[in-house]
Amino acid sequence: MKPLALGLGLATLAVASAALAAPEFSYDPPGKLVAGSGKGRVDMNVYAPDMRFPMESGPAYANSQVWGHGGMNGGGGSQCDVENFSYPWHDNYCESRSWDMPLCPAGEGHQGQDIRAASCKDRTHWVVAVVDGTITNIGSYSVYLTAADGTRYEYLHMADVAVKEGQKVKQGEHVGKVSNQFNGEATTVHLHFNIKQNVAGVGIVYVPTYMSLVQSYEYLLGIRTRPVDAGPPPAPAPDPPAPEIHETPLPAEPEAAAPAEDTGCAVGAAAPSGTPFGIALAAVAGIMARRRRKKKVLSTAWS
Ligand SMILES: [Zn+2]
Repeated sequence: MKPLALGLGLATLAVASAALAAPEFSYDPPGKLVAGSGKGRVDMNVYAPDMRFPMESGPAYANSQVWGHGGMNGGGGSQCDVENFSYPWHDNYCESRSWDMPLCPAGEGHQGQDIRAASCKDRTHWVVAVVDGTITNIGSYSVYLTAADGTRYEYLHMADVAVKEGQKVKQGEHVGKVSNQFNGEATTVHLHFNIKQNVAGVGIVYVPTYMSLVQSYEYLLGIRTRPVDAGPPPAPAPDPPAPEIHETPLPAEPEAAAPAEDTGCAVGAAAPSGTPFGIALAAVAGIMARRRRKKKVLSTAWS
């Protein structure tokens, strides 16, 4: 009897240690897309260093919902395939799409990142506010959160939305649940996440989210520690020279652009100038043109 009891004991130990050893987080470098899915942008910049990871809890898997199993170009299989729910992560910003994306090598592409939750279960996993801010738009499957600095975070394919337009939210507060909502049609169960920012010399554009997601995910998992807030900034040096102002601040994005609900993960859906997304881009172009004209006038006045 003794050898049998010992054998069972070892087996129990093996099972217990397997359950404890979660797979180690790893990620492909930014800009490395699934072969054949387009040309990525190699960009190590963390555009949103203070953000929290958009899923309430891990694990989560950033990869392509179109080029993964169960996706349109995924080569078959189920969206619940274990490969979709495993590391390493894969960037899919700039994956082939037909709408303008100024920061993508092709000038067009997928504007954010697809992220799967811990499982493929619909309407189960909470998505949370990545920063303190205001809910600035709620569409049929999207929620926009705008931070005090103007950065807009966009959550697509949401269900069970737990916030209202105009509501102030704190980082970590429930926003909604990961689902397959897509304007009455079903996509795969995933979160499509965008960050829209004012980039110097370019304008208000969708910026890469990948390294901001990597960093915030490492905070979530405890792999790295968020820097401690150093408190209020030191007092300014006495008598700083008055800066020369050559430029007016960029005006806020016009209200007309706010409700623009982009097409998220759709493939091949063009965004002609008449669509809300096209209108938003046209509005941005208009602002930039006005800015240039204004700048010219001011430069003349000051020089
Ligand atoms: Zn997407």
